[in-house]
Amino acid sequence: MNKSSKPATLCVQSGWQPKKGEPRVLPIYQSTTFKYDTSEQMAKLFDLEESGYFYTRLQNPTNDAVAAKIAALEGGVGAMLTSSGQAANFYAVFNICQAGDHLVCSSTIYGGTFNLFGVTLKKLGIEVTFVDPDAPEEEIAAAFQPNTKALFGETMSNPGMNVLDIEKFARIAHSHGVPLIVDNTFATPINCRPFEWGADIVTHSTTKYMDGHATSVGGAVVDSGNFDWEAHADKFPGLTTPDESYHGLTYTKAFGKMAYMTKATAQLMRDLGSIQSPQNAFLLNLGLETLHLRMPQHCKNAQQIAEWLEANEQVAWVNYPGLKSNKYHELAQKYMPNGTCGVIAFGLKGTREEAIRFMDSLKMICIVTHVADARTCVLHPASHTHRQLTDEQLIEAGVAPDLIRLSVGIEDAEDIIADIEQALKQ
Ligand SMILES: *Cc1c(COP(=O)(O)O)cnc(C)c1O
Repeated sequence: MNKSSKPATLCVQSGWQPKKGEPRVLPIYQSTTFKYDTSEQMAKLFDLEESGYFYTRLQNPTNDAVAAKIAALEGGVGAMLTSSGQAANFYAVFNICQAGDHLVCSSTIYGGTFNLFGVTLKKLGIEVTFVDPDAPEEEIAAAFQPNTKALFGETMSNPGMNVLDIEKFARIAHSHGVPLIVDNTFATPINCRPFEWGADIVTHSTTKYMDGHATSVGGAVVDSGNFDWEAHADKFPGLTTPDESYHGLTYTKAFGKMAYMTKATAQLMRDLGSIQSPQNAFLLNLGLETLHLRMPQHCKNAQQIAEWLEANEQVAWVNYPGLKSNKYHELAQKYMPNGTCGVIAFGLKGTREEAIRFMDSLKMICIVTHVADARTCVLHPASHTHRQLTDEQLIEAGVAPDLIRLSVGIEDAEDIIADIEQALKQ
């Protein structure tokens, strides 16, 4: 196994590399702290002069092995695991933004991220301008201000299934001297590697396909190492000027390509502490070991079901980028030639009540606030995850009020269709 290994090999083999006599399987380092022989040794760790473990709020070997696997899969220089996808997106942005700064963000993003950016970041003094990701370049560029520090989008938006033109977004970000942050949760690095298209930072809710079994909430931030912070030093003083809380150390000078990840660990984890538990990291690793097998099955099933839905006369519309009729089909072919993911958005002819009755009539497919795991599940975002949004905000977020989000699992597609068929008859 080396850096040029194929994704399937990285899923199985990367991350934990046992030395002689160590466990073959990644152990759960269920320990808050780590032992040293002298006070001096420990002091060096606190000063970031040496790397090593001292307290699990900052770093833990189980987490680091899993983060290394995710970094390898994305083709990044480093990664960190966070307690949730929300924490990952917050850290990714907060690592380079502070009060008085500004962010430009695609409007078609996950409802939780929409609230995080639009409501909570605002309270911290960070303003966000949401833009239509399909708008022409000049229109998106017009949202930038002198204090803009990043551009943000989702490879495929949850739940609207809009496909992001990553190259376009990267061009706009870089022409304004800021990094592009892409939430790659739905595609996973099996189907899309945003760094190859110019993204600088990638985030994940590992809660979804990466875990894949709905056992553990978690997140990850990955750095490509490609963004030149020094070239835009005035915009990113947190990385390019001395950090007084570490005796005047400057991250870019001390850590080079690892500056961004080191700051996120040394500052954000130290102060905010949204670390993933080693137990969850262990379960996440088990999920990652089969990610390359599960994703194609999710895509194959979803394609078959999307085509079936499209041909059904009770169905008003189907949004799945794998369909030839889909607005994003071409972009999906470009960025995700092997398939997108298992999530289908669709609407039924008839009233909102009838849509709810359809969902309530499903037998094998459960209504759950979840998406992207092995079991097929369904949700009505306007009544559930996006409940806080107004109808106007729903449309802006790419979520039609009648949208049903079907997360196709890895069962046999015929059994999934049979369940949908019987529920439609109700
Ligand atoms: C679920 C999700 C999140 C939030 O992740 P949590 O692990 O639930 O905190 C962020 N982005 C996307 C695209 C998601 O689907």
